[in-house]
Amino acid sequence: MKEFDITIVGLGPAGGTLANLLAMHGFSILILDKEKSFYPLPRAVHFDDEIMRVFQTIGITKDFLKYTIINKGTKFVNSKQKVILDWPRPKKITDNGWYPSYRFHQPDLEKQLRKKLKSYKKVFIEQNANVVKIINSKNNVNIKYLNSINNKIFYIKSKYLVGCDGANSITRTQIKTKMDNLGFTQKWAVVDLILKKNKKNLPDRTIQYSNPKQPATYCRNVGRRRRWEFAIKKNLNDKKVLSENYIWNFLKPWIKKSEAILERKTIYTFKSAIARKWRKGRIFIAGDAAHLMPPFMGQGMCAGIRDASNLAWKIASCLRIKHNEAILNSYQSERSLNVKEYIETTMRMGEFVNAVESIQITKNISSNDQGVKSMQSIKPKLGKGLGQLKDKNRGKIFPQFKLNKYKNFDDYFSKKAVLILSSGIKTKVSKNYSLLEAKSLKNLSIYLKNINSKAILVRPDRFILGSANSGKQISSLIKKNSFILR
Ligand SMILES: Cc1cc2nc3c(=O)[nH]c(=O)nc-3n(C[C@H](O)[C@H](O)[C@H](O)COP(=O)(O)OP(=O)(O)OC[C@H]3O[C@@H](n4cnc5c(N)ncnc54)[C@H](O)[C@@H]3O)c2cc1C
Repeated sequence: MKEFDITIVGLGPAGGTLANLLAMHGFSILILDKEKSFYPLPRAVHFDDEIMRVFQTIGITKDFLKYTIINKGTKFVNSKQKVILDWPRPKKITDNGWYPSYRFHQPDLEKQLRKKLKSYKKVFIEQNANVVKIINSKNNVNIKYLNSINNKIFYIKSKYLVGCDGANSITRTQIKTKMDNLGFTQKWAVVDLILKKNKKNLPDRTIQYSNPKQPATYCRNVGRRRRWEFAIKKNLNDKKVLSENYIWNFLKPWIKKSEAILERKTIYTFKSAIARKWRKGRIFIAGDAAHLMPPFMGQGMCAGIRDASNLAWKIASCLRIKHNEAILNSYQSERSLNVKEYIETTMRMGEFVNAVESIQITKNISSNDQGVKSMQSIKPKLGKGLGQLKDKNRGKIFPQFKLNKYKNFDDYFSKKAVLILSSGIKTKVSKNYSLLEAKSLKNLSIYLKNINSKAILVRPDRFILGSANSGKQISSLIKKNSFILR
């Protein structure tokens, strides 16, 4: 029976990101996907700076950037076309070292993730591989899958398995956990068009039409791609909604049939749900397998990539150092609170688009210079898990500082923990860690001062594990966290 360090079920964006993050450590990885190839049609069209930072770690940004555009933000308008809320995404580099928000075409990302995976000798991708059984044992996971072309059955073993197998996850079923419905279930049509010629009168931003008669969304996507989404009223049947007549009639205020190619029309039931249990022994779930949210904020895939980033270094630590229950348990507790905030904010945004105008999407809303309400993006912290909750810096994302003219923090420290020390502080154990001394970096020194710390320990996923103010505290921080990758 073949054996691997890690098996990943599902090669969508969550599985592709996780596999890349683990492949960087040199582990043997088998990826099983039941489809013949990747899903060629668009779903996700937006991601943010935190996610681009993960792509930077993987090493795909150089090639992938040319398939993205910077997103200018979202406007919410009422039925009289009056702007009732603005969500600007200013073209300004954020603390993560990238622009706040990008637009992309999901198949372009999946191609880049796969291309990078093919450069690793110990990564094996099997398509047409339908996983049917997963059994957890003390030191291994046993997996049974069926090749859907020749109907052959295969059995393999793996030290860990992660199910990134989407909304109808077999892994979730096998670990016998349920999804809790968080309350938003609505049928929407999604229509993707490719313009034949550029059309200047189409908005350059995302527009949410907060109109009780017909809640809808317009997305300015990459190149000539444009998307419209609209809620389906209860009395309409799906066939009618997907008919060419109905769609072009809906699109009339924006565009004529002769001006674009209809690339795709489909109906989704937007859901909000979260799995109760994300782990059983050596088996985990991540991405849509663990949580679902409506797409109003463009954060569903982003959440799956955050899962991958959180889980990858923990599995790597277990494989490199030793199996550690506490570190593996922290995956769900840290991630679920963070994703819940995205789900709940997205649900409120959905209600706002449904024209329940009185609803407050987030607390971060103020009036801008023109008297229009303006919203800021949310930045949820990690839930409790590793590190001390009383440490105010723990669980915050560490900014990506420029270390010199050419390179940023993540270019130097791509998969390891980093101990950052302000000038004048000394510690005996520091030589065991990737070390960065702030003395020659003014911005970093100011940052440490602002967060009242002389030292911080940054995890491989760029979140702060803990902070300290004396040599003794630093030694204790390092001793307590000996599982962290050096
Ligand atoms: C209309 C729409 C718009 C969206 N827009 C955005 C957006 O702008 N931004 C954003 O962040 N998110 C967005 N999302 C959400 C995003 O598309 C999903 O969250 C994301 O694709 C989920 O990725 P995943 O890797 O978890 O799962 P998936 O992409 O669903 O991949 C799961 C994989 O598992 C495989 N698989 C399943 N079962 C098995 C099995 N038994 N054996 C082997 N393989 C299996 C499947 O073949 C598939 O390849 C949108 C979603 C929709 C519907």
